[in-house]
Amino acid sequence: MTYLFNNYGRWDIELVEGKGTKVIDSKGKEFIDFTSGIGVCNLGHCHPHVVEATTTQFNKIWHTSNLFESSLQEKVAEKLTKYSNGGAVFFCNSGAEANEAAIKLARKHTGKSKVITFMKSFHGRTFGTMAATGQDKVKVGFGKMLETFVHLPYNDIDALEKEIDENTAAVMLEVIQGEGGVNIADPAFLVVVENLCRQHNVLLIVDEVQTGIGRTGAPFAYQHYHISPDIITSAKGLGNGFPTGAMIAKKELYEVFGPGSHGSTFGGNPLAMTAANATLEIAFDNEFLKEVEAKGNYLYKRLLDELKDVSDLVAIRYKGLMFGLEFTEEIAPLLPILREQGILALSAGPNVLRLLPPLTVSIEELDSAIEIIAKTVITNSTASSSQK
Ligand SMILES: *Cc1c(COP(=O)(O)O)cnc(C)c1O
Repeated sequence: MTYLFNNYGRWDIELVEGKGTKVIDSKGKEFIDFTSGIGVCNLGHCHPHVVEATTTQFNKIWHTSNLFESSLQEKVAEKLTKYSNGGAVFFCNSGAEANEAAIKLARKHTGKSKVITFMKSFHGRTFGTMAATGQDKVKVGFGKMLETFVHLPYNDIDALEKEIDENTAAVMLEVIQGEGGVNIADPAFLVVVENLCRQHNVLLIVDEVQTGIGRTGAPFAYQHYHISPDIITSAKGLGNGFPTGAMIAKKELYEVFGPGSHGSTFGGNPLAMTAANATLEIAFDNEFLKEVEAKGNYLYKRLLDELKDVSDLVAIRYKGLMFGLEFTEEIAPLLPILREQGILALSAGPNVLRLLPPLTVSIEELDSAIEIIAKTVITNSTASSSQK
């Protein structure tokens, strides 16, 4: 008997402790965690710097309300804007809420209502962000969707040229689609998107909920490309496991949200801001980010080498430590085998094995994981088993 809704396909494992890349379940089995709580614990579990800061704050004050000034919010907002092109920040509690704020800001600023998003995107599960998401599976059974959103094929310039018009408030996209299959935007496409937005007085929203906070080897993934989004949304890794989200907008949009226009009871809560501040002190450090990039390149080379004879491997896509291994076959059967072997990994769509290790992962941990992943993929791939 369970008292919980059955809305998650849960694995038969309960994690009770975590330190860095390692987690332990209730039976005492140890795993290498290449999920990071789905891109959340980017600094690894219980990072000492974040634990220390939040523990101190726990004994000071937990919650005040946004009726009061907050130097903690100022501190985090200063970091988020210093390491991006933004100038003003709104704090909330999740990725979906950050996207809701972005959509509302774009509509209020432009006075227009259409928002263009892309197929295979994921923007959240609220009533608005569910409609924004370009995947039918999140919408099944929920009736008529909001008409605000139009979904176009990703990386398709012609489709966007045809759709974008005087009624469009915003184009919203992930520069790497996380849930949709670790699909990486074509750099030329992104530049055209931005140009079209400028021509039509449309705001460009980049959803960095999964790609941000150092995941790709930059503070935000858009920084790898020649674009300057009007709005960036963040959550997942922002508090390293403490729930928090943020919408970061360019300075020019500062006036759009005046008193009473938008809000959140818990948004920017002192505990969340303390966790975020401590997280960003590490995650936005240039040396740290360079290491993320180097570890990503190392993981890519080693996986490519180990898996070169696996004929049902279609591609390995990555940026920093965000990886998608696409296969011709469905990868769902691989995940429990990997767990058995002590590796926690994710899927992204039916054919993509997604790896999101903590950014603090060591080379030794990468090596152990690569060995197990390669062995599991090779023994279970149809092509190589038929050769035996
Ligand atoms: C996870 C995710 C969201 C939703 O975040 P929640 O915190 O679950 O609301 C939105 N966009 C992207 C790209 C995500 O990966």
